[in-house]
Amino acid sequence: MLPFIRSDLAQFTAYKPHPSSNTAQGVQPSTQIDRLDTNESPYDLPPQIKEKLAGTFEQLIETNRYPDGGHEELKSAIAQYVNESANLPPSVFTASHISVGNGSDELIRSILIASCLGGEGCVLVAQPTFSMYAILAQTLGIPVVTVGRKADFEIDLQAAQVAIEQTQNPPIRAVFVVHPNSPTANPLTTAELAWIRSLNEHILVVIDEAYFEFSQHTLAAELAQRPNWVVLRTFSKAFRLAALRVGYCLAHPELIAILEKVRLPYNLPSFSLAAATVALENRTLLLESIPQTLNERAKLIQALSQHSTLQVWQSATNFVYVRLKPNGSHSQDAAVKIIHQNLKATGTLVRQINGGLRITVGTPEENARTLNRLQAALLNLNKF
Ligand SMILES: *Cc1c(COP(=O)(O)O)cnc(C)c1O
Repeated sequence: MLPFIRSDLAQFTAYKPHPSSNTAQGVQPSTQIDRLDTNESPYDLPPQIKEKLAGTFEQLIETNRYPDGGHEELKSAIAQYVNESANLPPSVFTASHISVGNGSDELIRSILIASCLGGEGCVLVAQPTFSMYAILAQTLGIPVVTVGRKADFEIDLQAAQVAIEQTQNPPIRAVFVVHPNSPTANPLTTAELAWIRSLNEHILVVIDEAYFEFSQHTLAAELAQRPNWVVLRTFSKAFRLAALRVGYCLAHPELIAILEKVRLPYNLPSFSLAAATVALENRTLLLESIPQTLNERAKLIQALSQHSTLQVWQSATNFVYVRLKPNGSHSQDAAVKIIHQNLKATGTLVRQINGGLRITVGTPEENARTLNRLQAALLNLNKF
């Protein structure tokens, strides 16, 4: 360990990104890889939008100049989209309710810096959930309090309430929930909603709506009455811009002003700002693929449910979560690992997570391959 480095960092490992090209370790080089492990859209931007962006890059972006550090144009476009998609009058959300980040990951870090840093607070998460909350908190030296979930993946609200009441020095200052959750794909239940509404205003509630376009359910309309809530969104999923790293959050202008204080001045490259703006201008076209994804999801869940060895959950997102049903003959974790490796060797990358597999809904062709390869992997498993 380098002597000048914070001692608590010794225990961390760097985030392992998934293969960025059509290559992955342990896969035959000629195999077409289906990347169904990070919940991106299977569809690149349509060529006419790429051409438009190429024109913007050529003619409008001066690469010798810093980007627009105020993000006003993008924030106004986001506000319009948020109002429209939540059926709100056009005046409800304005640029003052929005902050944009280099992916929502950056916003998560800003929220942690603004609420819990310096020994002032802990965060609460219910596992399994999106891993970045705990990872980013830990890199900032912020303690993470963890509670579990019930069989249907609803948060163990009793345990969560006990944690809120009993955690001291420092107390819980931020609660992270995902609506719908990753990796388990379930939206917040009535009981979970009642619980986050009941939390004291000294606690920041972060509601991550990364999958809003698939669930079509948002808590944005409630933000007006909730000064301690912040809603996170991203362009990385339904809007097909994962490569360009754009996320945003919605909150009361007073909280937004604080997040603007802690962010880096030029956090978004000009090209990313332009791409997000163009994506919003063309939202009708880009979001046209959503019904197909939902249809494919239903087919995938239906087909997976035919396997007597699999436990499959409903999904309000663009991915499905499956586990192996308990079976005396082999360890579930070992079996899931074998299936994961088998899928990878045949060219389908999925995420192995919390004793199950999280499978992104891809193109119809990819989903057909997923089912075939999974079937083969399950047959293989039965030979053990
Ligand atoms: C994919 C995802 C995000 C998006 O992160 P970006 O940094 O915007 O790419 C955020 N939250 C959850 C729960 C996700 O699954």
